[in-house]
Amino acid sequence: MTLTLTRTDLIRTRHCIGGQWVDNRDGREAARHAVTNPADLSAIAEVADGGAADAQAAADAAHAAFASWRATPAKAGAAIVRKWHDLIQAHAQDLGKLISLEQGKPLAEGVGEVQYAASYVQWFAEQATRSNGEIIPAPVSGRRMMAVPEPVGVVAVITPWNFPAAMIARKIAPALAAGCTVVAKPAEDTPLTALALVLLAHEAGVPAGVLNIVAASRAQTPAVVDVWLADDRVRKISFTGSTPVGMHLARQSAATLKKLSLELGGNAPFIVFEDAELDAAVDGLMAAKFRNGGQTCVCPNRVYVHEAVHDAFVAKLAARVGALKVGPASDTSSQIGPMINARAVEKIERHVNDAVAKGARVVVGGRRLQGAALASPNYYAPTVLVDATPAMDCACEETFGPVVPVTRFSTEAEVIAQANATPYGLAAYFYSQDVRRIHRVTDALEAGIVGVNEGALAAEAAPFGGVKHSGYGREGSVHGLEDYQHLKYVCQGGL
Ligand code: NAD
Repeated sequence: MTLTLTRTDLIRTRHCIGGQWVDNRDGREAARHAVTNPADLSAIAEVADGGAADAQAAADAAHAAFASWRATPAKAGAAIVRKWHDLIQAHAQDLGKLISLEQGKPLAEGVGEVQYAASYVQWFAEQATRSNGEIIPAPVSGRRMMAVPEPVGVVAVITPWNFPAAMIARKIAPALAAGCTVVAKPAEDTPLTALALVLLAHEAGVPAGVLNIVAASRAQTPAVVDVWLADDRVRKISFTGSTPVGMHLARQSAATLKKLSLELGGNAPFIVFEDAELDAAVDGLMAAKFRNGGQTCVCPNRVYVHEAVHDAFVAKLAARVGALKVGPASDTSSQIGPMINARAVEKIERHVNDAVAKGARVVVGGRRLQGAALASPNYYAPTVLVDATPAMDCACEETFGPVVPVTRFSTEAEVIAQANATPYGLAAYFYSQDVRRIHRVTDALEAGIVGVNEGALAAEAAPFGGVKHSGYGREGSVHGLEDYQHLKYVCQGGL
């Protein structure tokens, strides 16, 4: 199958600033960066490589558009966001192909991601019309006291490559719904999906200047983002990505006291207790671990299995993992695509080699894959390791690949201590049939998201976000809009 788009004009290669598709400014007109298909390293497009002048122009446009966008009645704004959702759905196949082309995930997952992204856009179109304030009972007579939600202002949105549609949609949709205007910088590996979404937003009726996007290579990214960090008119940064970059943005936002939402890295534990339903636990682990080839922030990174069920669980898991079909997105039977780039595969290889050197045993996989159909060095075999220990790199850092390191445990207290022994706290999973244990362990896990007998957790109606070094802020749910608002307290006297 070829991943050819029906609507080829969805592929945009320039910035969108003030409603216009524009090249770089300030003598950098010729600067471009290549977007490649990780499945075969072929070039997909050459995209404008933005800089400080483009970032400045985008911030100017967003600032200029803010007054009228915030004054747009909620129902009219919601209708535009809803129309954006409809257009995303109408172009789900093309957008799914674009995701698969630039990010590598199998097409079914690419189209699934589009629908997932669209679900947030729909949700926030609805929430826009339900952003009620509060009337507060006054402690003295003669007063009316109110709390009124207002948009924070211009929001800078910075996103990673692993979900090129979902990450940006679930930031832009609540920002627009709250009445904010946006400057966005998509990931350098996957800008095309984001640019296509911005095109559809304009077709849906988003006014010029309300939504601006500047593409940039890794090298140029600081030049773009630093302008927004220094600009006092940019009142919020919404970032998804790695913890070191999130910490950098938090430090640099201090001088202008911006509001921050930081969705950062994870190191999710997945615990299988002796009373778990083993087949359900294997199903849950397969769903949670192997989506997007293990390149998700919520995917289990450390798997703890009780000694009484360890061998049976590993045998079932190894059979399932060994049967996974690795291949390019252009092959509809592929279940695991290529990793995003050479750096990603090198990290996976380093983690597996380190684990083996420190005593882990490879049950399945444990190597790169190459062959006629696997036409890039970016493929890695789905892997199960046993006898993993806390001293291994794969227990301390996100592997971000299709590797399951399994550790045997004997007591609940011991496994909770190990699960929490990480600076991160995004997702955590466990399987048990004991209702008292379920409550105890849920309370004890240090994570923003807990899956109990369930591996697929994300939903637009639920608050998504972390604790500890996984960041703060929530995306989705009724709370997702609040991150783009502040509350104005109004005290009216003399009544
Ligand atoms: P990354 O931090 O390297 O890059 C993310 C974004 O930040 C990109 O757009 C990048 O260009 C930009 N960036 C990089 N350096 C910057 C700088 N100095 N200043 C400003 N912006 C900069 O992360 P990545 O490798 O692209 O993505 C993977 C990471 O994202 C993983 O750690 C993963 O767990 C995390 N992630 C988290 C969530 C979540 O919701 N918590 C979701 C998806 C991914």
